[in-house]
Amino acid sequence: LPLPAPRRIKALAQDVVNKIAAGEIIVAPVHALKELIENAVDAGSTTLEVLVKDGGLKLLQITDNGHGIDKEDLPILCERFTTSKLKAFEDLTSIGTYGFRGEALASISHIAHLKVTTRTKGSSCAWVAHFADGKLASPKPGQSAEPKPIAGRQGTMITVEDLFYNVPSRRRAFRSGSEEYAKILDLVGRYAVHCVGVSFSCKKAGENSGSSMTVPASASVKDRIRQIHGSTAANELVPLSAEDDRWGFKCDGWVSNANYSAKRTQMLLFINHRSVESPAIKKSVEQTYATFLPKGGHPFFYLSLEIEPQRVDVNVHPTKREVHFLNEDEIISVICDELRNSLSKVDTSRSFMTQS
Ligand code: ADP
Ligand code: MG
Repeated sequence: LPLPAPRRIKALAQDVVNKIAAGEIIVAPVHALKELIENAVDAGSTTLEVLVKDGGLKLLQITDNGHGIDKEDLPILCERFTTSKLKAFEDLTSIGTYGFRGEALASISHIAHLKVTTRTKGSSCAWVAHFADGKLASPKPGQSAEPKPIAGRQGTMITVEDLFYNVPSRRRAFRSGSEEYAKILDLVGRYAVHCVGVSFSCKKAGENSGSSMTVPASASVKDRIRQIHGSTAANELVPLSAEDDRWGFKCDGWVSNANYSAKRTQMLLFINHRSVESPAIKKSVEQTYATFLPKGGHPFFYLSLEIEPQRVDVNVHPTKREVHFLNEDEIISVICDELRNSLSKVDTSRSFMTQS
């Protein structure tokens, strides 16, 4: 076969690059929401309200009472790699906030209609600004793109409309809004369990009850689990703590005891206050439970792992879904030993009670 002639290599146009990057970071509405929740928590918010239309594809709005954004920063707010959180690459090793790349709002502005309303403590009014493709944009043809003053309380409201409007293949891939809404509720529920001291609400626009969720700021972790996952799980929880200086970690959480058994494992996992997946932790915990639960039974567990930041790499996954850390096997085995202890304690007290 004749070799094809090489094609010339050309640089992609900047807007194509930005759209591709955005599509990697925001795969579904829930990924946009995760970034927005983390921004609100980073801003010190104690109230967080989420409003959703059509699974977040039509509307995703999050209102917080955090420190707000200075009016002077609005022009660069949605540019790629603008952030108030990270300065040097080395800071990645000690990062205490959820955000660090300054890419979330930029990405959203490339694939949705984005509006930001914000007010800082020192400001006498709120400011509203619209964004498109990383820049301030005019809300309607002929209007100025400059931020406009309006009345509003301290904090920030981010409104994301028509997500993926300019990525038709992605937009078409979503079968139903209810499937996306279920993912959104699941995510808000996770942060609502973990972020004690913060009130959460999540609802569909135009609906008052039904598939909504609320947690007051004063609720304890256990109350939060009860509210979101029901009493069946909450009544059978025992606390779990483990730590080991050698591996630079500490772990706290609530785990179901041997009386509780569900069809599927429910794992709420936070590593350094970030909701993450970890197939390795899930598998080991399930194996530990296997000897205590009836065949086919699965646990509920919420674990908050704090690992010395310099042992963690948060920058391995575009959606930050997974993180890597040193001595993973050792850390998991310390946690599972502790879990086994606590499960067998409950076990013996039960058999003791039935004997007497
Ligand atoms: P990152 O979180 O990685 O810094 P983002 O694009 O998510 O990047 O946000 C850019 C910047 O906008 C943040 O560093 C922060 O200063 C500001 N910001 C975003 N959301 C909020 C919010 N809800 N309240 C206050 N400031 C915010
Ligand atoms: Mg962020």
